[in-house]
Amino acid sequence: MSQARLPPCIPLPLEHKLLVTVIEKAKDWALMHGVGMRDKKHFTKDSIQIAPFVLLPSPFPSTEFNKAVELQPVLNELMHKVAHDVEFLEHTLQNALQVDEFTANLYDIWIKVREEGITQPITLGMLRSDIMLESRCPHTVNQCAKHTPYCSWKQVEINSIASGFGHLGPSISLGLFRSDYLMQCTEANTIKQVEFNTIASSFGAITSNLPAMSRYILRQLGHGDLIKKMPQNGALSGLCSGIIEAYDLFGVANAIIIFVVEEVSYNICDQRFHEFEISEKRPDIMIHRKTLNELYEETTVNDKKQLILEGRPVAVVYYRSGYEPSQYPSSREWDARLRVERSSAIKCPSIQYQLAGTKKVQQTLASPGVLEKFMGTGATTNSVRDIFTGLYSLDFDESGERAVDMALADAERFVLKPQREGGGNNLYGPDVREALLRMRHSRERAAYILMERILPPLVSGYVVRPGAPVPPPLSDLVSELGIFGVIIGTKEKIFSNRQVGHMLRTKLADANEGGVAAGLGALDSPFLL
Ligand code: ADP
Ligand code: MG
Ligand code: MG
Repeated sequence: MSQARLPPCIPLPLEHKLLVTVIEKAKDWALMHGVGMRDKKHFTKDSIQIAPFVLLPSPFPSTEFNKAVELQPVLNELMHKVAHDVEFLEHTLQNALQVDEFTANLYDIWIKVREEGITQPITLGMLRSDIMLESRCPHTVNQCAKHTPYCSWKQVEINSIASGFGHLGPSISLGLFRSDYLMQCTEANTIKQVEFNTIASSFGAITSNLPAMSRYILRQLGHGDLIKKMPQNGALSGLCSGIIEAYDLFGVANAIIIFVVEEVSYNICDQRFHEFEISEKRPDIMIHRKTLNELYEETTVNDKKQLILEGRPVAVVYYRSGYEPSQYPSSREWDARLRVERSSAIKCPSIQYQLAGTKKVQQTLASPGVLEKFMGTGATTNSVRDIFTGLYSLDFDESGERAVDMALADAERFVLKPQREGGGNNLYGPDVREALLRMRHSRERAAYILMERILPPLVSGYVVRPGAPVPPPLSDLVSELGIFGVIIGTKEKIFSNRQVGHMLRTKLADANEGGVAAGLGALDSPFLL
């Protein structure tokens, strides 16, 4: 069975000369509107280059897009509850902590601040739920092929093309144009959660700018009428509104905000746009960018437990770094993290939110009865469970052994994930098998989870990369949609909870991962079908 495919927003391929011309326009638009990143190979603070992007917006079914948007506040609240459930986090993470030093270090900070008494009960969550469409219908291939009563079918338009071209299925002609249709199971192409990010969720800013580029390109191609199918994206202002709200809740005159950044920030545009936006909306707020090491050297905690930088109290600490082991090269960075956590600054995220964002928590939430514990029973709980794909623990118990056997029997079906963030850490295909054979009798195994591999539908598109030959080939791509959420509250009370926008990342269909910062994926905008 060939992989399902979604129709492009306009007929492709584009004619060579036209393609070269619009790519040149798109690149200039991108550069002049901050769709950029610093060059990793030749780093300089004097220039940025284009971030990789997809020339035309990629198709995404509107019903599934709306479902994801509507679900976001529900997921925000779920994660807020998880982050504040001490017993659940302790129980869920206990085995992984034995073998995963990084998670154990975060956990130790959490224990320390709880023992001392939490200074700042308010937390700021700037979250991103990442999802892909699962193109396979949930029924077996045989059932579908036989059109059994298990499957419900719908007619989907796969292309509108000038008549006379290749025949793809039942078609309807209208004047010069013809639409081709395929029958598809209505339960295929539904959203499945890849992961839930609770720290340093990026690209909200750049992808808020990107739809304007897609709209410009569509107009240049004579398809301005299609712009209405691109949803508004207010991710940047929405995320910044969360930071500003937290700042006001802190309520101390003269307070500042700290962005915790990497030693070298390649993704500078995305980060800076937050600073520009906050400064525009609130000229009274000063933002300082500091590395963890600079925090260690330059901050103190006063007798009111305020975090102090240059004599001023810090209202909000927003982490754009601190999510992976390499960002803590010495004990100084860990000490800085502990100092911030002990202080009255509102953290985004606070340490328990980072722990709640681990893959182990995601897997445990998918276990029988766990969602009900947090959300009760009912339609909302069912709609959250519907977006979970198969997630399995690799602990040393009966179900862990079953999961190992299952993965060894059919490794291609799974992704093996450690407790890491930032992309490039997961194992796929033959590596899953190799790793499981190696770890079968080692405690290391408990630091991983096993996840069913999602097979998204293919979309066709042109990926424009800095320095790559123009025009790029028309490629088979797959997309991952991220929905941003902001939640502010204490364990007892949620003050704000909203969905604030989205980002779409698209990668070559045969690449395992699509991190844009890692150089694999490309920024994109959804075109709603
Ligand atoms: P990270 O926190 O490092 O971003 P993810 O869980 O998002 O970890 O995995 C990284 C990438 O791997 C995703 O962006 C996606 O491209 C791919 N991936 C992860 N899980 C799956 C899955 N179950 N099916 C298909 N691809 C996946
Ligand atoms: Mg992540
Ligand atoms: Mg991810």
